[in-house]
Amino acid sequence: MKDIFVTQPAMPPLDDYIELLKEIWANKHLTNNGKIHVRLENELKQYLKSPGLTLFTNGHMALDIAIKALDLKGEIITTPFTFVSTTHAISMCGCTPIFCDIKPTDYTIDESKREALITNQTSAILAVHVYGNPCNVYKIQEIADKYNLKVIYDAAHAFGVELNGLPISSFGDISMFSFHATKVYHTIEGGALVYNDLELEKRLNRLKNFGLEDGDRIIEVGYNAKMNEFSAAMGLCNLRAVDDYIQQRKMISDEYYRLLTGLNGIQLQPKISDNLRCNYAYFPILIDNISAGINRDQLYQYLNTKGIFTRKYFYPMITTSDCYKVTYGDIHLPVAQDICNKVLALPIYPDLMIEDVERICSEIIAFISQISF
Ligand SMILES: *Cc1c(COP(=O)(O)O)cnc(C)c1O
Repeated sequence: MKDIFVTQPAMPPLDDYIELLKEIWANKHLTNNGKIHVRLENELKQYLKSPGLTLFTNGHMALDIAIKALDLKGEIITTPFTFVSTTHAISMCGCTPIFCDIKPTDYTIDESKREALITNQTSAILAVHVYGNPCNVYKIQEIADKYNLKVIYDAAHAFGVELNGLPISSFGDISMFSFHATKVYHTIEGGALVYNDLELEKRLNRLKNFGLEDGDRIIEVGYNAKMNEFSAAMGLCNLRAVDDYIQQRKMISDEYYRLLTGLNGIQLQPKISDNLRCNYAYFPILIDNISAGINRDQLYQYLNTKGIFTRKYFYPMITTSDCYKVTYGDIHLPVAQDICNKVLALPIYPDLMIEDVERICSEIIAFISQISF
């Protein structure tokens, strides 16, 4: 039996990419706002229905620069249930992450617990549309307006997601997308910031290019975080295909729901509501501690022995990781901790075959039927 991995990058038609490589060879302009970079920025603006969009070398640098560009200081309220990039960006910018627990339904930050965490040091909320599940963007904006806070969304998982007919990046001050190879839409490595305030554009372009402006003026301390032409070319090819990728992911997700709904000990995310266009970025399931030795870690091991490589995404919880536990280890975040202990991300990517989904589900069923309820 062949191995099945949790994800696999989407590969556009090779001929499309070769066409663009020929253009790159002809232009001899490999980075620094090349022709293909400009084209990708414009096409993404259209796809995401936003006039404000800047490309970066990766999502993490984009997030870091978003915090810098809004001049955030002091405390930033965020989630412990995310990829560590979110927390690192806050820390690297000299701000203090303040962790707010999540909701057991969609694993996004629990807005009802957030107001209690606001102090006179709070400058922003950095929330994550985790697994592509939109945060309660309306409630978050209400709190932000009340306390005069900025709102940044880590939308690394949420490319293509729409809420009430609006792209998810239309909410908040800035949204960050990651275009890493494992994401729904990718540019090999890459990322973007999307924003409504066009005043931000100049500053973002400066911060990603050593703080330079107009070629030779060094205005401020900056990074090198520019996207190159080869990544932008991959981005153009994948943008043509991304709606198909999402459709293929939907078919896989539907099959998982069909085969795994109602199994004892396995919880699936609630079905998607009508006002949401979902991108099916991940397929997380929760495994209850059914009995001694029958838990998430056991299932993970069992599937590994069958050549099915799932991922404990996210585990460990950030506040209990080696890097952050000294400072944040004692914070009580019961919902996030519970989800971290139970969650398992199953394989999902456009080329995953329906037969593979069937094989994965029958192994899960075989595993849990060892137990008599
Ligand atoms: C992937 C990811 C990032 C970082 O993006 P890169 O493009 O890999 O730098 C940040 N936050 C979350 C939630 C992610 O999944």
